[in-house]
Amino acid sequence: MTQMNAVVLDEWGGDLTVEQVDRPEPGPGEVRVDVRACAVTRTIENAVQGGLAADPALTPRIPGHEFAGVVEAVGDGVDLDVGDRVLAYFYLTCGACDHCRRGETNRCTSFGGWYGVNCDGAYAESAVLPATNALPLPDGTGFAAGAIAADGLATPLHVCERTDVDDTDTVLVVGAAGRIGVHLSQLAAARGAHVVAADIGAERLGHVDDLTPDTVVPVDATADDFVSRVCDATPGDGGPTVVVDTVGDTDTLRDAWDAMAMGGQVVSLTTHHDRTFDVPMTEYVVKEASFVGSRYATKDQVVRAARLFADGRVEPVVRRRVGLDEVPAVHRELRSGATFGTTVLEP
Ligand SMILES: [Zn+2]
Repeated sequence: MTQMNAVVLDEWGGDLTVEQVDRPEPGPGEVRVDVRACAVTRTIENAVQGGLAADPALTPRIPGHEFAGVVEAVGDGVDLDVGDRVLAYFYLTCGACDHCRRGETNRCTSFGGWYGVNCDGAYAESAVLPATNALPLPDGTGFAAGAIAADGLATPLHVCERTDVDDTDTVLVVGAAGRIGVHLSQLAAARGAHVVAADIGAERLGHVDDLTPDTVVPVDATADDFVSRVCDATPGDGGPTVVVDTVGDTDTLRDAWDAMAMGGQVVSLTTHHDRTFDVPMTEYVVKEASFVGSRYATKDQVVRAARLFADGRVEPVVRRRVGLDEVPAVHRELRSGATFGTTVLEP
């Protein structure tokens, strides 16, 4: 058995270290992928902190789920070939429940957990993946773009399809400088919507301005006149028709609710356990408003997200590329909250 370098977490909430480990062999129904790109993200930092699962029996663990690469070995009963380009699906799904059968894989009711949490992930030179989680990476989509498509664009695509975003909409994105926010802002604009991109601080708003189409209007979420600025940036009467909170910022969400148009939809992506959104029911009735929870994406949406990059309709935002040795330091930065944009590991 050959060895490989990997980033290992000894216990949930602990430090990451780069170690030599045995290169894993794919079992029946699995493939081993030569990892070409894996995004290093806040979602993974949350998992490292035990935010998704904290069972000590699941450690030591190799984290990492947003990745793309090339199949280098296949187990028995797998309908993929060595050399196939693939990107990974994050959820470990059963394939047999009513939702999985309908293609609603993000709603699996026999949920097996998360790739990179309940099994080893892709912060490594090679990663073993259930073949059903290895989705085809479209021609023309690079590996870094494929890694971002796996979650960073697939999640926004699911939001836009949950809420039917089109050219009649104004979409307010709260947390627009984050990797979900910046790709959501691009995607909503590509679907013809007016986009108001809220974040905090001149530097983050500058990034939003640089990385989204000129039609996207950046607005400082901390401004005293935030609500009127959002409404000013919205064509026609009233404010945004779709409000998407990517960060669990309930103060901004309350302001956005006040700004929202009649019939509007609020979309939440937060998985913070302690956040609530307290609005009297009568306000829902008077506004005919909807509150929409949006959970990751389906497998089909992950592949279509990668195609959006191939088509050039959305640009992958990659801030920097690092090797395995640098991953622990990137996570320390994520922990301090000082980072912007997606860092991509290229092992
Ligand atoms: Zn299922």
